[in-house]
Amino acid sequence: MSWPHRIEQALTDRRSSGQYRQRHLSQQADARSLRVAGQDYLNFSANDYLGLSHDTRIISAWQEGAARYGVGAGGSAHVTGYRAPQAALESELADWLGYDRGLLFISGFAANQAVITAMMAKNDRIFADKLCHASLLEAASLNPATLRRFAHNQPSALAQLLTLPASGETLVITEGIFSMDGDRAPLAELHQLSQAQGGWLLVDDAHGVGVCGEQGRGSCWQQGVKPELLIVTFGKAFGVSGAAVLCNEETAEYLLQFARHLIYSTAMPPAQVCALQAALGCIRQGDGLREQLSANIHYFRQQAAGLSWSLAPSDSAIQPLMVGDEQAALTLSQRLRERGCWVSAIRPPTVPPGTSRLRITLSAAHRTEDINRLLEALHAANR
Ligand SMILES: *Cc1c(COP(=O)(O)O)cnc(C)c1O
Repeated sequence: MSWPHRIEQALTDRRSSGQYRQRHLSQQADARSLRVAGQDYLNFSANDYLGLSHDTRIISAWQEGAARYGVGAGGSAHVTGYRAPQAALESELADWLGYDRGLLFISGFAANQAVITAMMAKNDRIFADKLCHASLLEAASLNPATLRRFAHNQPSALAQLLTLPASGETLVITEGIFSMDGDRAPLAELHQLSQAQGGWLLVDDAHGVGVCGEQGRGSCWQQGVKPELLIVTFGKAFGVSGAAVLCNEETAEYLLQFARHLIYSTAMPPAQVCALQAALGCIRQGDGLREQLSANIHYFRQQAAGLSWSLAPSDSAIQPLMVGDEQAALTLSQRLRERGCWVSAIRPPTVPPGTSRLRITLSAAHRTEDINRLLEALHAANR
C-alpha cells in the first residue's frame, strides 16, 4: 500500500457504493432560492428556517461591527480575543435561555467535540440516541468513555442501559429536533431517567433554537426541561454561524480550563458576534416569522398527503420524504431539479441503509406559490 493507492481505493469504493458526495457551486443562495450552473431553483434544502441569513438588520450589524472591531479576533479568547460583544452575547444568551452562563464556540461541530471531550474520562459512560448528529457521535466515540447508543427516541431503551453497573459518570446525549428526521426527543422522560441515576443530559438543539418555544428559546424551553448542558447553534435559524454551550457557573469555569477548542483556537470575530446579537434580537421578536413557518409546514403536509411516498412524522421545518432506495432518492431529487426545485437526497452513511430520503426543509421565507411549485413537481414525479 501507499498513500496514493489508499486514496484512490477509497474513492473507488465510494463511487461504486453510490455514496460519492459532490459539492455544487451556487452563484446565489438564500432561504428561498438558489442559482446553480446558471439555473434558478427554489431552495428546499437550506437550514435558514427564518430567512435571517440575508436580513438587512443583521448584515448592517456585521458591517458596523467590522468597521469598529476589525474583521478578526486576533487570538483565542484566552489571549486577546475576548471582546465586549462576546461578553455581552454570552450573558444575553444565558439570560434568554435561563442558565448561569453561555460560552461561544466557532461552530456546533467544535462545541460538541469540545464539551464531550472535556467532560468525559475513562470509566465514564455515554448513552446517545442512535440518530444523533455526526459531531456528537464522533466526539463520543473518540474519547475514552464507553459509548452505547439507544433506540431512537425510546426512553425505555435508555432506562435499560442506565441499569448497567458503572463506576464513572454518565452523560446522556440527544438532539431537540433531529436533523435528518425532523422529530422531537421526549426530553422530560430522558432527563428524569438520567437524573435518577445521577447522570447529566446534553441536548443539541441546533434545529430547535429560534424556531420553537416562547421567543424561539427552543425545544427544551418548549418541553419545560432544563438539561445540564444545552448546545445551541447559529448556522440554522440564526442564519449566521457559530454555537454556544449553556451550563451552570462551575461547568462554564471547568470548560474554560479544559475545553481545548476554546483555548487553542481563534475566538469568533467580534463583528460576527455583533451580527449574532442582531440575529438574537430578530429571533426574540420573531413570532411573526415562526407563525409563517408553521403555516408553511402545515400547508405543505396537508397538500403532500396524496403522494405515494410518506412524509416522516414531523411537525418541524424538516420534512423528510421517505424514499428508501438510494438510487431512487437520487432520481427523485434529479426530477425535482428539472422542475426548478432543489431538494437534497440524503443517503447512507448519513442515514441508515434503506432509509434514503429527500430532506425537504421549509422556511418562513417560502411563499405559498413556492410550496405549490414543489408540490406540483412531487405529484408529477409520482405519476
Ligand atoms: C448542523 C448541526 C451541527 C453542527 O453545527 P455547525 O455550527 O454547522 O458546525 C451540530 N449538531 C446538529 C444536530 C446539527 O444539525
